Amino acid sequence: MSLDIQSIRKDFPILEQQVYGKPYIYFDSAATALRPLQVLNAVTKIYKEFNGNPHRGSHYMSNQTTLAYEAVRDKVQKFINAPSREEVIFTKGATEGVNLVAYSFGDAFISEGDEIIITEMEHHANIVPWQLLAQRKKAKVKVLPITDRGELIVSELDNLITPKTKLVAVNMVSNVLGTVNPIQDIIEKAHSKNVKVLIDAAQGIQHVKTDVQKLDCDFLVFSGHKIYGPTGVGCLYGKKDLLDAMPPFLSGGEMIEKVSFDGTTFNSLPYKFEAGTPNFTEVIGMGAALDYVNNIGLENIAAYEHELLEYATLKLKQIDGMRIFGDADNKASVISFLVGSAHHYDMGMFLDKMGFAVRTGHHCAEPLMDRYGVHGTVRVSLAIYNTKEEIDKLAAAIEKVAGMLQ
Ligand code: PLP
Repeated sequence: MSLDIQSIRKDFPILEQQVYGKPYIYFDSAATALRPLQVLNAVTKIYKEFNGNPHRGSHYMSNQTTLAYEAVRDKVQKFINAPSREEVIFTKGATEGVNLVAYSFGDAFISEGDEIIITEMEHHANIVPWQLLAQRKKAKVKVLPITDRGELIVSELDNLITPKTKLVAVNMVSNVLGTVNPIQDIIEKAHSKNVKVLIDAAQGIQHVKTDVQKLDCDFLVFSGHKIYGPTGVGCLYGKKDLLDAMPPFLSGGEMIEKVSFDGTTFNSLPYKFEAGTPNFTEVIGMGAALDYVNNIGLENIAAYEHELLEYATLKLKQIDGMRIFGDADNKASVISFLVGSAHHYDMGMFLDKMGFAVRTGHHCAEPLMDRYGVHGTVRVSLAIYNTKEEIDKLAAAIEKVAGMLQ
């Protein structure tokens, strides 16, 4: 299906802005995607028309909010094909989801000497919570290496997994290299040795059809703001038997069944893990974002992004001194690069003044930067509203800036 990108672009009014008197060209969707009007309208509607704290009042507005909030749980369940709605926990984002599992699963299931396996291409959000867990429990974090092309050496898992291994935590798509990881294989390998698997889908959910039943992953996390939704909201999917066996993470209102000064009992799933007033406005906005993606079709979005990725890769490769990090067979629309001796930060600064929003730095993946022996890169991430014309302009701008910086 051919998409009408010009009409899609109209859904994103921010693209009409200028920066420094130049048209705004947004290539930083992997950091946070732009939000379409449909999402902005859904959020505004809550504040304007039916504000009320969900689950906490018997009045009309509170009931309306509860219905809308819980309807998003059903949407997420369907979007990721979770077996039941109780297995969908609203969080504030992927980071909170990983932390929830690291604390709660860690508390219940990790003991001294146990091992957790992560990979060389993880975001700090899927590294540091495991390191802290390892410190608390005197456990060990092991690392699955990658090839120079930026692909996981999955066969190494056979050596890394031991009877002490309790969990593998791996991203679905690398935020730096764009690699789409063979998570199905990883899950099968881990499960064959009775090891649980957490999938960090922060960069995957918006590009790759996600079916948690087919994957059979034990946990999966993502953030709403990377899939055209609001900030401050995301999801944790977990298998019911595991979530039931895990102690609460945050505590307070709503996650309880009965509180007395003699002791407290806890609410059932999913509420056991949703303490305090949730970001209900943002949750409802995320529901609108999922509707938006469903209406266009994730597979159509992915196909268009792939076309852009191939076009941009070809264009950028023509630039003298271009070094692209990540050349996996299966890539999502993320390109990290350096040109000649130009510093990534200088490149980003000049591009910014020319109207381009790109990401520079270590991308919260310092161990991966160490792996490639660099301090940082420039990252271009492509989404549904980007065009080949924008890529042409970017390539010309990079060439110009590289010339100035040599
Ligand atoms: N995992 C990956 C692969 C990411 O790229 C990011 C953010 O960039 C995160 C986790 C953390 O997401 P958030 O900051 O939305 O919690």
